[in-house]
Parts: sequence; structure tokens; C-alpha cells
Amino acid sequence: MHETTQVQAGDDTPRASGWCSWHSGNAEGIRLITVYEQGSGSGGHLFACGPCRKEHGLVPFADQP
Ligand SMILES: [Zn+2]
Repeated sequence: MHETTQVQAGDDTPRASGWCSWHSGNAEGIRLITVYEQGSGSGGHLFACGPCRKEHGLVPFADQP
């Protein structure tokens, strides 16, 4: 079975829906932008939707050099 309501790290499905960290709301078509680490904790992932990527000039994690 495939979890459809959660976006996993490294999952780069363009139609994924989930939480956009930039406008603080759910959106479709979000992409993973940043992976950060919090000390020895689990860290986190920041996702952004299309409009926010455009507005803030964000480059998806998978598209970064
Ligand atoms: Zn957004």
C-alpha cells in the first residue's frame, strides 16, 4: 500500500499534496525544498507549493546542484 496523504523525504511526485511551509497551508503540487537537521533530533523537511516557489525563487531540493 502506498501512503497518499503524506509526502516522504525524497518523494518527488509533482502532484503530491501536503503542507506548504511558506504560506502555512495545505497545497497540491508541493515540492521538497530544504532538509534541515535539528541537533540529534529528527530534523525536518520544508515543502513549497508552485506559487510560493515562483514568488520566492525556490529551487526544489531534487533540482539543486
Ligand atoms: Zn505555498
